[in-house]
Amino acid sequence: MEKILKHYFGYDTFRPLQREIVEWLMQGKDALVLMPTGAGKSICYQVPALMMRGMTVVVSPLISLMKDQVQSLVSCGIVARALNTGVSEAENQETRRECLEGKVKILYVSPERLLADLDFFKNAVPEVSLFAIDEAHCISSWGHDFRPEYAQLDVLRAQFPGVPIVALTATADKVTRLDILKQLNLPDARMFISSFDRPNLSLEVRRGLDARQKRMAIMQFLLRHPDDCGIIYCLSRAAVDDLAAYLCDHKVSAAAYHAGLSAEERSATQDAFLCDRVQVVCATVAFGMGINKSNVRFVIHYNMPKSIENFYQEIGRAGRDGLPSETLLFYNAGDIVQLSHFAENSGQREINMERLRRMREYAEADVCRRRILLNYFGEPSTRDCGHCDVCHHPPQRFDGTVLVQKALSAIVRCEENIGMRTVVDVLCGLFSSEVKARHLFEVKTFGAGREVPLRDWNDYLLQMLQMGMVEILYDRHNHLHVTEAGWRVLRGEEKVMLSVVHHEEKTKARDRKGKKTKAAPLLGLSVAPMSGQEDVALFEHLRQLRSRLAQEQQLPPYIIFSDKVLHLLATSRPSTLEEFGNVSGIGEYKCQKYGTLFLKEIASHVKG
Ligand code: ADP
Ligand code: ZN
Repeated sequence: MEKILKHYFGYDTFRPLQREIVEWLMQGKDALVLMPTGAGKSICYQVPALMMRGMTVVVSPLISLMKDQVQSLVSCGIVARALNTGVSEAENQETRRECLEGKVKILYVSPERLLADLDFFKNAVPEVSLFAIDEAHCISSWGHDFRPEYAQLDVLRAQFPGVPIVALTATADKVTRLDILKQLNLPDARMFISSFDRPNLSLEVRRGLDARQKRMAIMQFLLRHPDDCGIIYCLSRAAVDDLAAYLCDHKVSAAAYHAGLSAEERSATQDAFLCDRVQVVCATVAFGMGINKSNVRFVIHYNMPKSIENFYQEIGRAGRDGLPSETLLFYNAGDIVQLSHFAENSGQREINMERLRRMREYAEADVCRRRILLNYFGEPSTRDCGHCDVCHHPPQRFDGTVLVQKALSAIVRCEENIGMRTVVDVLCGLFSSEVKARHLFEVKTFGAGREVPLRDWNDYLLQMLQMGMVEILYDRHNHLHVTEAGWRVLRGEEKVMLSVVHHEEKTKARDRKGKKTKAAPLLGLSVAPMSGQEDVALFEHLRQLRSRLAQEQQLPPYIIFSDKVLHLLATSRPSTLEEFGNVSGIGEYKCQKYGTLFLKEIASHVKG
């Protein structure tokens, strides 16, 4: 096992659970593997595939995912192919022939292709030795990405009684887990659940920013990441288009991705992103499932996602290579309104409202955010992570009774016929169109909260919502209603503590100027084994070499070597093929193929 891992993939040791899973499958038993994105699920079936005699068939929902996996395996010297509608029938025919000749070790198929060709697989010589069902949550209608094509995969257990089946997913939801086993008819499968912690991802939430403020915050964020690739998720196509246009206007290499674009446009954008030609992709959730790009350095949520599962899977697309990566979630009252509407009309109202409630708890939390996430995934942790915004800036509280009374009184004086946004206008004394149209400037509390900045009011109102002093009436134009708890404060019977609003971007900008560090905190410099010794200029040279090779071979650069491998090379600066091959992530095939070129580059740099 270890030999195969080292020979093909260049890794010295298995990650937690990988070895157990490989051993289990080698005994011919079924398994369900739950691991967060980037934890290394693929190795769990790829290593057995290479050890078993026949061919391993991997069911995958997306052509782009198959393509990525096939490229990555082939680049390690493994014969992998894909059967799908993305290539011509002639090519598929050729692939089938190769399978029958026993050349193909790992075959990727779409579920519909597998079901249509069931006889081919049943009669295949050499036989199918293992089935892997990737993105297995697609089989469950409880999951967030149900695909009807997956529903018929239950035939596999019946039709291939002796062949082990492994289902893999990054979705941790308990209901979904059990449903996967039920749907696939795998009562004896063992569940392997790894930790869902992704310690290399930092977590940050910014509350109550409006569209303009969010854009400015994003520009500041990008200034700190001039060379890093990332994804920005928005809730609507319109928001995606607007944001991408805005970024392009500000000289950011950005592109839009959503279901309203043609298939060609979408695949061009995806390719450009994979090959580092586009820095930022603004996307609806449609983007990302087909992305294995290992050097995504940040994920930003322009709007709050509808559940923690969605959120976790999306941020999981950052930092697959294990290097430090940042995540940022924007969250405001508009998100709550819109998502509540979605949930109400989703046909699964109860469960979706509950999911949304849990997501809100995360966004509104004033305890360590990683603890909330891990707790959600059933891994209660007793330690603060030290790597989220709450840990960095523990909340400070003040007596906010008077402020809250002002806000509540404004709502009451407007007869509760007023939404979040207009309450803020009234408090700040702004003559917005609604204020003018409805003569709200005549209300007694108009301008009563002028001393507090608009942005902070937005935050305080979210806090009030969270504490249950007001409710949003979704069936009444999203107007605000003062609850009994709110009335107690209004009548002076109870005091309220509010959290001080933390103005992130200003402090950060100052920090950096003060310290004068290079604006690249993410380039692996803080990863322990390489700290202090990495030759940054050499890394840049190696990156260019990788780019050139990628272009020649029409492959995404990260398929050739991950960023992590380049950092290791720039740190250890090997001078012989043997040293080169010892670097983690460089297998035998890549060592032979690229060793000489990279060694030459390193040698000339070290000399020069
Ligand atoms: P997942 O499918 O769980 O999202 P992948 O299988 O794509 O994750 O693996 C994520 C990254 O971790 C890949 O770059 C992979 O090569 C790497 N990886 C997997 N297993 C190991 C290991 N045992 N040692 C080092 N790196 C590994
Ligand atoms: Zn924390």
